[in-house]
Amino acid sequence: MNTVKIGWIGLGNMGIPMAGQLIKADYAVTVYNRTEGKNASLKEMGASAAENPQELINTTEVVIIMVADDAAVDQVFNGTNGIFDADISGKVIVNMSTVSPAISKRMAALCQEKGGQYLDAPVSGSVKQAETGQLVIMGGGDEAAFNKVKPILEKVGKLAKLVGATGAGNSAKLAINSLLALYAQGLAETVLFANEQGIATADLLELINNAAIGNVFTKIKGDAIITDNYKAAFALKHIVKDLNLAKAEGISSPLAKTTLHTFENAASKYGEEDIIAVIKQIKE
Ligand code: NAP
Repeated sequence: MNTVKIGWIGLGNMGIPMAGQLIKADYAVTVYNRTEGKNASLKEMGASAAENPQELINTTEVVIIMVADDAAVDQVFNGTNGIFDADISGKVIVNMSTVSPAISKRMAALCQEKGGQYLDAPVSGSVKQAETGQLVIMGGGDEAAFNKVKPILEKVGKLAKLVGATGAGNSAKLAINSLLALYAQGLAETVLFANEQGIATADLLELINNAAIGNVFTKIKGDAIITDNYKAAFALKHIVKDLNLAKAEGISSPLAKTTLHTFENAASKYGEEDIIAVIKQIKE
């Protein structure tokens, strides 16, 4: 058994498989999720459960957060029985959610005041990569703190890289998701154009996936389009959040404006479905 006791907050599409990797790597993991009942599979694997973030932090040394957005992060820290209701001195809190650099800077300063350390460490990759420990992790914050938790992060990802001071991980992630939105809209428009020309989706995807422009994204999302399966791996509402965060950080390129417009339109109908459900909106 690894000696570091880990707390995990947030058991959504990503949190469950990521925490699962740590249990498989023989860490003692205690989990908490706002909505009860999502911890069953992890408890079966050996996780303990806490009633709230305050209780969780009291019994662990490194706490990892994987929740939806800035509001959720704020709730986890400042809500009733939140992290800041506990003594956090000596603890390292790693926020892997995709959030704004601003909230990371705010929480890092508060953690420091209270004797703890905060790192932002968002991830690139989706559920499939989370299930196999193949995520790419980009960190922001103190180098010594990052190196302390790096062996843990390397159980969740194939690469864990510090890219700068607090918030730098978030900035890198917003840049990457700007490209992700372009990929998704580009793939959707390409498939629809080919269909209009009488080319079957499966045939087109076979060509793309054997060509130089094929990649893991076109393979996984191509399969989703072919099988008409839009169950969220990465919910469309989350890319809208990320594109708006990038806009708030100053991105204003023509393509960034276009994808934000497209995904905002799609979100009202398909927000809970996967990012590639954007194809349905574009088709309409
Ligand atoms: P998800 O399935 O929607 O899960 C969201 C999690 O956040 C749930 O545990 C949810 O708790 C919790 N949450 C939401 N609002 C909360 C609040 N106010 N207080 C406390 N907890 C709250 O999201 P996900 O796909 O796992 O993504 C998590 C984060 O990773 C997001 O920032 C996302 O952008 C990012 N990300 C996702 C992917 C992907 O492919 N899915 C890839 C890379 C990064 P409840 O169960 O109570 O709702």
